[in-house]
Amino acid sequence: MDAEAFRKYGKEMVDIVADYWDTMRQRQPLPEVKPGYIWDLVPKDPPAEPEPWSRIFADIEPVVFQGTTHWHHPHFFAYYPTACSYPSIMGDILSGGIASIGFTWKSSPAMTELEMVMTDWLAKSIGLPECFLNSDPGPGAGMIQCTASDATLIALLSARARAVSAMEQNGRLNWLYSTISRALPTKFNLREMMKKVEQPSQEKSQSPESQIINFEHHDPVYFTKLVAYCSDQAHSSVDKGIMLAGVRMRKIKSTKDAKFNNYSVEPEVLEAAIREDRAQGYIPFIYVATVGTTNTCGVDSLTKLGPICNREMIWLHVDAAYAGSYALCPEFRYLIEGIEMADSFNFNCHKAMMINFDCSPMWFKDAREAINYFNVDPTYLKHEHQAVASDYRHLQVALGRRFRALKVWFVLRSIGTAKIQEHLKIMVDRAIQFAELIEKDDRFELFVPQHLGLVCFRLKGSDDINERLNTIINDDRRIHLVPAKAHGVYFLRFAVCNSETTEEDVKYAYNVITELAQPLLHF
Ligand SMILES: *Cc1c(COP(=O)(O)O)cnc(C)c1O
Repeated sequence: MDAEAFRKYGKEMVDIVADYWDTMRQRQPLPEVKPGYIWDLVPKDPPAEPEPWSRIFADIEPVVFQGTTHWHHPHFFAYYPTACSYPSIMGDILSGGIASIGFTWKSSPAMTELEMVMTDWLAKSIGLPECFLNSDPGPGAGMIQCTASDATLIALLSARARAVSAMEQNGRLNWLYSTISRALPTKFNLREMMKKVEQPSQEKSQSPESQIINFEHHDPVYFTKLVAYCSDQAHSSVDKGIMLAGVRMRKIKSTKDAKFNNYSVEPEVLEAAIREDRAQGYIPFIYVATVGTTNTCGVDSLTKLGPICNREMIWLHVDAAYAGSYALCPEFRYLIEGIEMADSFNFNCHKAMMINFDCSPMWFKDAREAINYFNVDPTYLKHEHQAVASDYRHLQVALGRRFRALKVWFVLRSIGTAKIQEHLKIMVDRAIQFAELIEKDDRFELFVPQHLGLVCFRLKGSDDINERLNTIINDDRRIHLVPAKAHGVYFLRFAVCNSETTEEDVKYAYNVITELAQPLLHF
C-alpha cells in the first residue's frame, strides 16, 4: 500500500466508520453470532499474496460488524458506558499515523509534554487541587494510564514499596536501638557501633557469589505482614491488582449510607478493621476507595475516610473509573470532595467523557515516590534531559506508551467542556426518567436510588425470578443490560451509555422489560 492508495482507501475507511454510526439504529445492541462463528468466515491460514481492498472491505460487515456488541447503540444499557466521539477517533488516527512510542521525554517530546498539559486541563476541569498539577512546582503529577486496572495496580505497588521502605527503616532503627541499649553499659565505641549498624542490610544482602538481586523497595520478606483494604463493593480489578501485588486483602464491609442510601464504607468500620488487623500483627498499607462502584454507583466518602488514611499512614487511592467524569459538572463535584487527602486518583475518560478507549488519567500527589520505586535505568534509555524532563515510563507497567493525549486535546478543543457537561447531564436525565418509570410500577422496585447514569432495579420477588427476567431480556436482544449482586441480592442494572439515547428509547426499554416480565408474574 503506497501513500496514494492510503489516501483513497483511508478515506473509504472513514466512510465505513461514519456509515456504521449513521446506521446504528438499524442494528440490535447484541449480535446474533454463536461462539466459533469466525471459523466459517475467515480462512485458517494467512494469504501469501496481497488481496484487493475491495475484498477486505467486503468482509468487514459479516466478520466484524455482525459479530460486534454495539456499545454505542441507544438501546445498550449494560456495564458502564464506553465513550466515543468523532474528534476522539481523529486523535487515534493521528496517533496511529505518527506511530511513535513515548516512554521517555526524548523518545517523543510532544507525546510527553502534551500529556502533561492535557492532564492539567483535565485536572482543572474536574476541580482537582493544585497539588496534583504538572504545572504546580510541587511533586504532584498527572499522566495517562491505559485502564483503571493499571492505575490501581501502580497505586498498590507504590504503596507497597512505601510500606516496605518504612519497615526497612524501622528495622534499622530498632536494630540500632537494641544495639545501643546492649552497648551502653560497656564502653561506648562509635566506630564499632557504626559497623554494627550496617549489619542488618549486610545480613539481607547476598554473599558476594550470589547472583540473586534483592530490590530495596520490593523485598518480599516484608509482604507477609501487609494487607490491602478496599470496600466489599470494589471492582474486580482491585482484587486482581492485590493478587498481583502478592499481599493479603481485606474487604471492608459496606453499609447503606445516609447521604445516598447506597453502599459505602463507614469510617468506624474502617477504623475497627485497622485496629483489629494491627492487633494481629498485620500492617494495613493502602485503602482503595471507590467513587462510583460498578455494582450500584455507591460512593466511599473521601472526607470521612481520608483523615483516617492520612493519620494511619495508609496510602489512599481513589478509583473513580466511571463517576470521575461527572465531576466535570459543578453539581456533581461532591463526588471528589476530600480528594486533597488522596495519594493517587484515577478515572476513565473512556467511560463517560466522550473519549474512546483507552484513556485513563491518573494523578499522584507525590510522583517522586513511584518514580523512585520503579526507576530502572538501562543505558539505552538514558538521555541528557533526564533531570528536568518527565519520563512517564516510571509511572506505568509497560515501557511503551502511545499518544493518548491527542484525543484529549482534540475532544476538549473541538467539543469543549460545556458540551461534555451537557452530554453527562443528558445521561443522568435519562436515568432519572427510567427510575421514575420503575418507581411508578408496583411490580418493580429500585434496589438503591438512581445515581448519575445508573438505575439498579428488580422485580419485587425472588432472586430466581429476577435471574429469569435477565435471561429473557438478553435472549430477546432488543435491549442489552447486565445483572449484579450486592450483599447477596440479585438485581438488574440499567446504565445509560449514550447521550443519543432519547426519552423514547428509555420508554422503549421500559416497555420491552415490562412486556418480557409479564409472563413471569403469572406463575
Ligand atoms: C470500569 C471500572 C473499572 C475497570 O476499568 P478498566 O479501565 O477497564 O480497568 C475499575 N473500577 C471501577 C469502579 C469501574 O467502574
